[in-house]
Amino acid sequence: HLLVDHIVKGFGSNEVLSDLSFSIEKEEFVTIIGPSGSGKSTIFNLIGGIMTPEKGVIQLEGNNIIGKRGSISFMPQTPSLLPWRTVLQNVLLGAELQGKKDRDKAIEMLHKAGLADYIHARPEELSGGMKQRVAFIRALLSPQSLICLDEPFSALDELTRLDMQKWLLSIWEDFRRTVLFVTHSIEEALFLSDRIIVISAKPTKVAAEFEVPFNRPRDESLF
Ligand code: ATP
Ligand code: MG
Repeated sequence: HLLVDHIVKGFGSNEVLSDLSFSIEKEEFVTIIGPSGSGKSTIFNLIGGIMTPEKGVIQLEGNNIIGKRGSISFMPQTPSLLPWRTVLQNVLLGAELQGKKDRDKAIEMLHKAGLADYIHARPEELSGGMKQRVAFIRALLSPQSLICLDEPFSALDELTRLDMQKWLLSIWEDFRRTVLFVTHSIEEALFLSDRIIVISAKPTKVAAEFEVPFNRPRDESLF
């Protein structure tokens, strides 16, 4: 589904990715885990077409996506909601979804996320965790087949984080898509993913790669 092959990317004299390769299968939930500054967000910026690599190949379903924005759904490390729009408008705006079907789906998702009372509220009325959920739903509703989530839970307290992880898994069944996830937390990676790619810094390379040896969420007993 996604192929990242022999990527080289630096900023001036700071060579961040010197030869990075990995791939993701369709409908796999893969987590990249690695130290701060190792280049995880840079990888997302490359896949999202916001940055271009000096060398290497990035393909989505066999198509070159280097420098092409909009080929993936991307939830950045600090997602922003448009303050003058309502929650529902924010959710639909992200993917330029306007049809009634999209609207119904969005409302259903907001209900599932415990945001039924906030559908027509402005983002400023929401807590941090609620804003995160809205950004999530926006990413999940977009039509792209690959969703990239950059440390979506890192700003949340431990309890809200647990809640969000469970929520993500519970909606996963409806929204089975290919997910590339980034976190610092090994526990979170083990809880959420099918496969974990561990990267090491300076130079950044894949240090280890392993399948998570149980079937979540898919495994109903987790809940
Ligand atoms: P964190 O876990 O803290 O989010 P990260 O793994 O996402 O870290 P990146 O944000 O990708 O790390 O940064 C990797 C390296 O690239 C750092 O040394 C950073 O200073 C550098 N870097 C990232 N973006 C830019 C940029 N736009 N201009 C210059 N240097 C950059
Ligand atoms: Mg980062």
